[in-house]
Amino acid sequence: MGTVEERLGEMREAFRSGKTKCEKWRRSQLMALLALVREEEEGIFSALNRDLGKHRAEAFRDEVGVLIKSINFALSSLKQWMAPKSVKVPLVSFPSSATVVPEPLGVVLLFSSWNFPIGLALEPIIGAFSAGNVVALKPSELAPSSAEFLAEAIPRYLDGAAVKVFLGGPSVGSQLLEQRWDKILFTGSPRVGRVVMAAAAEHLTPVILELGGKCPAIVDSIGSSEQKVAAKRLVAGKWGPCCGQACVGIDYILVERQFASTLIDMLRRTVKSLYGDSRNLSRIVNRQHFMRLEGLLKDPSVSASVVHGGRFDSDNLKIEPTILLDPPLDSEIMTEEVFGPLLPIITLEKIGDSIAFVRDRPKPLAIYVFSNDEALKKRVVAETSSGSVTFNDTMIQFAVDTLPFGGVGGSGFGRYHGKFSFDAFSHEKAVMRRQFLLDFPLRYPPWNETKLRF
Ligand code: NAD
Repeated sequence: MGTVEERLGEMREAFRSGKTKCEKWRRSQLMALLALVREEEEGIFSALNRDLGKHRAEAFRDEVGVLIKSINFALSSLKQWMAPKSVKVPLVSFPSSATVVPEPLGVVLLFSSWNFPIGLALEPIIGAFSAGNVVALKPSELAPSSAEFLAEAIPRYLDGAAVKVFLGGPSVGSQLLEQRWDKILFTGSPRVGRVVMAAAAEHLTPVILELGGKCPAIVDSIGSSEQKVAAKRLVAGKWGPCCGQACVGIDYILVERQFASTLIDMLRRTVKSLYGDSRNLSRIVNRQHFMRLEGLLKDPSVSASVVHGGRFDSDNLKIEPTILLDPPLDSEIMTEEVFGPLLPIITLEKIGDSIAFVRDRPKPLAIYVFSNDEALKKRVVAETSSGSVTFNDTMIQFAVDTLPFGGVGGSGFGRYHGKFSFDAFSHEKAVMRRQFLLDFPLRYPPWNETKLRF
């Protein structure tokens, strides 16, 4: 195995050898990653089931399927991404030409989180390898079966000198952060994000922070013909991804007071039809998080606001989909990221008031808007700030390779996915080419007034 320093030394050596710069190597690693995801599908399903009780269909939709799509997109785009791009040059430099040449950064460190422990570990590797880097991966210790799966499967499929998995908890994270890396991509909490950024500052290492926050869904009073689809998408956006333990999942809903009871009826019926059987719902990752979620309902003014669900099964770490109507805005459930199956609904006089509500709080990773009102949609895009805005659906933006994925403000910074991942792990080098012809004397001293504005 070796120490962190020894393993890092091996990775530096692999990068210095230059092999990762060839298109052939990059392509072979992407193909190997594709083979890993396809051939080890059963191993992935069972790890996700052990860690989170994820159903194989959910595991395919949110992790395996997304990865296959992303790898295929990278394979079909790689040549184009790697090609130097010619840029215009000003007349003053005539004759000349200039290109922007992407070059790999070197050895990059990836911290992945436990809620999509396979998807969020492998997705950044697609970008890092496409851009020709070497990777150190630190999976979350809170999803141990997935972490062990990655540590066992990755060296069987990928170039072992160019990707290494570091198992362990915060102490291993700290050891890794003491080293110098060429880039760090961290997925996790704002608290640890600060630790990562402070450590990176020591070495002037650039970072991408993929953090969380409270993602609102603004639900306008939509027509009855559209309510069925809207309800399914809202319910799937709250309870579908890992039982609400998702950074881009809905945290709370904003709705006009007069539409609230219709919305609650819609949600109740849909929750029963989609998640009436609790086997369709993932479980809470561990007892500590289960107790944290239980604690959010302890306050009597919060528990009194429960209008649906509220049952906790501590033996199986399962929580019933739970809807709360107007819990106090200063209660923990409205000030902290919920990251679980509890859904507060906040009523407003006018749906337009949702803009000020969102703006008064930290910038979210995602905003969802269900509406047919074009003016409201325009206002949300123009007057709020968030990692993404999605109209009339939830979560789907995550799987679109041509959109950047990342936060802003409190939800993090930097972006990845598709070409944005390639760019995130590349340095864009400016390359300028000149000849010895035409050397203008005006650019050189001795200075005089005629040279002032040439
Ligand atoms: P966390 O911040 O507690 O842990 C993340 C990683 O950091 C783990 O690998 C852990 O071992 C390591 N770590 C913890 N303490 C450390 C320390 N002191 N020094 C070095 N390393 C340390 O994350 P979490 O609470 O398990 O994850 C949930 C959070 O992640 C939520 O806020 C969620 O919104 C966010 N998240 C964001 C995204 C995204 O893509 N933006 C995706 C998933 C989750």
